[in-house]
Amino acid sequence: MSIRVRFAPSPTGYLHVGGARTALFNWLYARHEGGKFLLRIEDTDKERSSEEHTRVILDGLTWLGLDWDEALVFQGARIKRHQETADKLLAEGKAYLDDGAIRLTVPPGEIAWDDAVHGRISFQGADIKDFVILRSDRTPLYNLAVVVDDLDMQITHVLRGDDHISNTPKQIALYRALGGGAALPVFGHVPMINGPDGKKLSKRHGATAVGDYQHMGILPAAMRNFLALLGWSPGGDREIMTREEMVRLFSFAGIQQKSAIFDMTKLEWMNGQYLSATSAEELYPLVAPQLAQLGLNGRKDAVLRAIAAVKTRSRTTLDVAKQVAVRLDTRFVQLDEKGAKEIAKDPAGYKASLEASLAVLRRVDWTPETLEQHLRGLAEQRGVAAGKVFQPIRIALTGGTVSEPVNELLYVVGKEAALKRLESAISGSIPG
Ligand code: GLU
Repeated sequence: MSIRVRFAPSPTGYLHVGGARTALFNWLYARHEGGKFLLRIEDTDKERSSEEHTRVILDGLTWLGLDWDEALVFQGARIKRHQETADKLLAEGKAYLDDGAIRLTVPPGEIAWDDAVHGRISFQGADIKDFVILRSDRTPLYNLAVVVDDLDMQITHVLRGDDHISNTPKQIALYRALGGGAALPVFGHVPMINGPDGKKLSKRHGATAVGDYQHMGILPAAMRNFLALLGWSPGGDREIMTREEMVRLFSFAGIQQKSAIFDMTKLEWMNGQYLSATSAEELYPLVAPQLAQLGLNGRKDAVLRAIAAVKTRSRTTLDVAKQVAVRLDTRFVQLDEKGAKEIAKDPAGYKASLEASLAVLRRVDWTPETLEQHLRGLAEQRGVAAGKVFQPIRIALTGGTVSEPVNELLYVVGKEAALKRLESAISGSIPG
């Protein structure tokens, strides 16, 4: 049997992280099995659907690296098929007219399925009321459209959110009525995504649109990896995985039944891991537009050097851009709270240390190696730990107390600018 799965978003809004996660699980399953991943745009609600939303959803999937097979299916273009199917059920006596609408008869008896995630789920037909499949204006309802489309698209596995569990018995009743029992897909319902407070993820918890994470400087590979772990685990404590590794390891057995928690701190941590592992050259096209937005158009070689220096200490590409800006343009240097506290401990010592460093730095060859060598030499000469020499320089150059090693920082800032920043710090004007 060749596996065919689908992601079926309604283009009534942006691509929600929950939708993206559902798409990812379907994609991983298709790629793992060598099957097909199809996309169906469920645009039957003409009022709320828009081409703009469809475009944003497709852009989001493309950004995440989730490529789809075959042509896009637009549900709205298939209404005739939905109508014909409802008429057929009516003609066969499996549905009836109710005030102009067509309603499916749900026979009593058990309606059950072996859910790929939850195991056996069972409903009683008697508890499910006969339901409308075609309105009196001849527009189809969700359950009818989905079943007709899934049958025509020869979908073998329907993997979707837990919120659809209550639709599944209705859809099975439709499959039975259509005599498509043999074609019944495997259903699997993936856990919902909650915020850290355990409540359904919503805007209250922060950004819920995939596009927002893109703009905030999350890398697509990190987002994909993070989303994969929302409800799925490859076993053990394995977390950082390439797309290929996830494809190899993915299985329904690894999907949890309990809801997943969206933890922003973890996403930022994971993004930091990916930033560290990505070259400055690859990050450049992502960072450059953010620099331009900050009002800085640095030379590419200088920007690359700065990216390489800061990327391991960043959580987002925006974070990278801000730190690059501090290094390449004095206007962005601002004394932060920790920097100010450090200076306040011993303002005279701070100045004296910078003066001694400045005297040395004026005459050294500006390479990371010689800078390190001379500053360590200075510390030895003054009989202090190297950090005592490094920290004032770090504060004078960046305004903060955390950075790459000071010799690299000096190198990235450049001789002329670095000397000026030190002079300003000594005279007490910058940073402050
Ligand atoms: N359009 C439906 C949704 O967005 C699709 C549900 C399904 O996968 O059957 O929830």
